[in-house]
Amino acid sequence: MDDRRIRDVVVVGGGTAGWMAAAALSSTMGDQLRIRLVESEEIGTVGVGEATIPAIRLFNGLCGIDEDAFVKATQGSFKLGIEFQNWGRVGDSYMHAFGQIGQSLDMIEFWQYWLRGRQEGVAAPLGHYSFNETVGRAGRFARVGRIPNTELDGISYAFHFDASLYAAFLRGLAERNGVVRTEGRIREVRLDPQSGHVAAVELESGESLAGELFIDCSGFRGLLIEQALETGYVDWTHWLPCDRAIAVPTANVGTLRPYTQSIAHAAGWQWRIPLQHRTGNGHVFCSAFMDEDEARRVLLDTVEGEPLADPRTIRFRTGMRRKAWNRNVIALGLSSGFLEPLESTSIHLVQNGIARLLSHFPDRNFAPANVEAYNRRIAYDYERIRDFIILHYHANQRDEPFWRQVREMAVPDSLQDKIDLFRATGRVFREQEELFTEVGWFQVLTGQNIVPETYHPLADVLTRDELAGFLRDIKTIVSAPVSRLPTHEEFIAHQCAA
Ligand code: FAD
Repeated sequence: MDDRRIRDVVVVGGGTAGWMAAAALSSTMGDQLRIRLVESEEIGTVGVGEATIPAIRLFNGLCGIDEDAFVKATQGSFKLGIEFQNWGRVGDSYMHAFGQIGQSLDMIEFWQYWLRGRQEGVAAPLGHYSFNETVGRAGRFARVGRIPNTELDGISYAFHFDASLYAAFLRGLAERNGVVRTEGRIREVRLDPQSGHVAAVELESGESLAGELFIDCSGFRGLLIEQALETGYVDWTHWLPCDRAIAVPTANVGTLRPYTQSIAHAAGWQWRIPLQHRTGNGHVFCSAFMDEDEARRVLLDTVEGEPLADPRTIRFRTGMRRKAWNRNVIALGLSSGFLEPLESTSIHLVQNGIARLLSHFPDRNFAPANVEAYNRRIAYDYERIRDFIILHYHANQRDEPFWRQVREMAVPDSLQDKIDLFRATGRVFREQEELFTEVGWFQVLTGQNIVPETYHPLADVLTRDELAGFLRDIKTIVSAPVSRLPTHEEFIAHQCAA
């Protein structure tokens, strides 16, 4: 039988996506593949992207990364969730905390009891039953496992880090695994006239890199997937109209929060991401409702520390590539699409694309059914995250024109169905392999002030006193260990200071 195995992989781009792909492929298939990566220092990387979700720990595990060494090398900090301020109404604050909330009882989730408790006036705010949120708001952190004598999980965490340092860290790992890096600017992408596949990329130096499989990590420009293969883009700006971000790093002030902050403004929102050596800040906004000068002023008026560099504007168009995999090119990272960083999902989408690539790894036949299956799964992943992000905008009660527009717009049916079900029954279900869990959806649905008409009837099995006691016990169990944990700064100083 003909050997159709792929041997030669070329990764185009050395930003976070490129080095994640090179590190993961070399860690898993390094014996079978020759992996080369080309990047241009002159072009540089997008230079933002600092907050992640817990799944990144699986990626780091796949690459055999020591967590403390990684946090140290990337000036990293720990992340327990995201605090949303002013999103429903000005003055509101809620957290989308990772991990469990409370403890389920008699087949139904904790939050059904909480919904009933809220109706009957015996429930505290939802966050008091979340270990992650309670620890996070206290400014503490430790790697805590299951809380003894309970069914409550311990802490679920992700990281904040400097994405350029993460790329450099992964580069070291990939090069040790045998990945060969070429520095230079690609001048031309050469296509095979018969198959239409990418045959080689040619650099300005005259060097040519031929390959069988190309991973396009060239950033927004999509050098292979769009400029060479003209794959097309599905535009979602009618649902997510923000189109710019202004980013500025500042000096740290006060305590190091173990969570990201997302603060809504008149035509967008601002992120605050605490790292060991600085805080990352940015203002994502909609240029149809706010000009750039005002957006910059809003950002500079609300950062907490002294700016360490001039603010920088990044333009984007929300959506995804019509096909993430076209012929022998797979797009990862910004070349595959863009969703604003409201739920810190871009680096996750890179990781997800890599995991799916590994499970669909092709041979030189590039079986169309395999390519289509990959594309279907990637589109599904993108669309479900898109819906979750739209929810934050759509369910608002603010007065400004921007917020009125996103409140009044029609949302995708897939999201409308979820909202309708929740409103009518208090229930939310995770569909297929969608990223966000039911408890994640629940926190945002209620945080954005959607109040369901009822709750699960099984929550009525407790008497009112039993319900009040159950809620009180969970709150006590959640808060009891917190003061014994080190502060976030102490934990880092002890384990992984840069
Ligand atoms: P880039 O960093 O742009 O890298 C592109 C690479 O391609 C570079 O190495 C460049 O040199 C190379 N290249 C391009 N053209 C050529 C050429 N002609 N020849 C040779 N090389 C070339 N993600 C998160 O997960 N969390 C966040 O909090 C987050 N915040 C974000 C905030 C903003 C405002 C933006 C815009 C993005 C954010 N992201 C975030 C996304 C994150 O930054 C990206 O997903 C991630 O950095 C991956 O980028 P990339 O590697 O695809 O592209």
